[in-house]
Amino acid sequence: MAKIFEEDAYKKEIITTIKKIDKENKAIELEDTIFYGKSGGQPGDIGEISTTELQIKVENTIKAEGSIKNILESIDGLEINQEVKAKLNWETRYKYMRMHSALHLMCAAIPLGVTGGQIGYEKSRLDFNDPDKKINKEELEEKINIIMKNDHKIIYEYIDSKILDSQPELVRTMSVKPPKIDGKLRFVKIGDIDFQPCGGTHVKSTIEIGEIKIGKIENKGKMNRRVNILLND
Ligand SMILES: [Zn+2]
Repeated sequence: MAKIFEEDAYKKEIITTIKKIDKENKAIELEDTIFYGKSGGQPGDIGEISTTELQIKVENTIKAEGSIKNILESIDGLEINQEVKAKLNWETRYKYMRMHSALHLMCAAIPLGVTGGQIGYEKSRLDFNDPDKKINKEELEEKINIIMKNDHKIIYEYIDSKILDSQPELVRTMSVKPPKIDGKLRFVKIGDIDFQPCGGTHVKSTIEIGEIKIGKIENKGKMNRRVNILLND
């Protein structure tokens, strides 16, 4: 299965074939896919699968072992090896791409350990180990918005995974497991601001994120603070 979203997160539709059908779960697997499978704090993509006769909603996409499954509204009329058009709900996916990229900037702006995170349509969040309550909402918002306005390019580099043995600090844990190809991990590089292994979908430049707003900062236990982020549009 070619995971097209890893190389080109902007691909909105493809023609491909059905490789597997799981009747019980109303799920299918495609030969090639543009749908991101829910994992590591990034939701699964939604969209549509269509043939000349049918249009079927993709209600969710999940990452299973070695594959990506699309959960459909119905599997009636679908067959293995059938050619289909797969189309993303682009509005939702693009929002996730902008949110995800914004979380990288937040991660870079706060030099503390990340303990969790979740991307959402309305808001997203990262949890930080912040026992001394160093995170300041107004300062953080300003800092990220300044970075955002500059056109920092977001690119990928494949690097030997051994780099993590000597530089384990590179894992800031956005917790989206990075793809590994021939022992090489995919790293996401945002200008000279952020560099970490990540498998999610991102925009091409920080300018596409637009302005952000820092929402509530919640205390979650003695050490953890949850920082919510919203997009201003
Ligand atoms: Zn990422």
